[in-house]
Amino acid sequence: MSIAIAIDGPAGAGKSTIARLTAKELGFIYVDTGALYRAIGLAASRRGLSAEDKDAIVAMLPGIKVELAFNENHEQIVLLDKENVSGLIRTPEISMMASAVSAIPQVRAYLLDLQRDMAHTNNVIMDGRDIGTVVLPDAKIKIFLSASPECRARRRYDELVEKGMDVRFDDVLKDVIARDYADSHRDIAPLKPADDAILVDTSGEDLDTSVNKLLNIMREHL
Ligand code: C5P
Repeated sequence: MSIAIAIDGPAGAGKSTIARLTAKELGFIYVDTGALYRAIGLAASRRGLSAEDKDAIVAMLPGIKVELAFNENHEQIVLLDKENVSGLIRTPEISMMASAVSAIPQVRAYLLDLQRDMAHTNNVIMDGRDIGTVVLPDAKIKIFLSASPECRARRRYDELVEKGMDVRFDDVLKDVIARDYADSHRDIAPLKPADDAILVDTSGEDLDTSVNKLLNIMREHL
């Protein structure tokens, strides 16, 4: 039987970096489910669709193929119709599109089996918004990771600047707050901790501290 660890929480709480590092330490595969929603957001954006074009986004789904693969460093790659789009999905525009498409029930249903299959065949640390509540309700460990909006925006801003993007902190903060609102107020699979999730706040912590905190929790509960 494979073991699953779910890490959910809002954008910028440090989920992906912490999940990647803890997975490496424990020898688990790290699955970033946000990349799947981003790939669908990219597909919609490439077709000139806007967040409001729900019917067209749903109609697009049978004609596209989203897949997860891993490179030689065990890093996740997301493929859209066989094209590696892992870099292209990391823009603020695609973040907002991902959040919009993720509120469409058919999009969530479309991605559900793919996520569950990954967890059935591997020991995984999977990060997202609804992993502990919907995708893997039987996950062995569920962690809900959060931090203040300012702290999360600061981390996201630093990441984007490091990638050479020309962004303003205020815009990143606005995006974080808008995405939090959209993700926690949607009807389907809203962002909320599972009843049995362990709540962890990483505000003001450096990465090493958060990683060690999570590793301790994981080792204690495995
Ligand atoms: O985690 P990331 O910021 O890459 O996710 C992009 C968007 O995808 C989120 O804002 C959220 O709306 C959506 N998402 C989701 N469920 C997940 C993972 C991501 O709805 N499990």
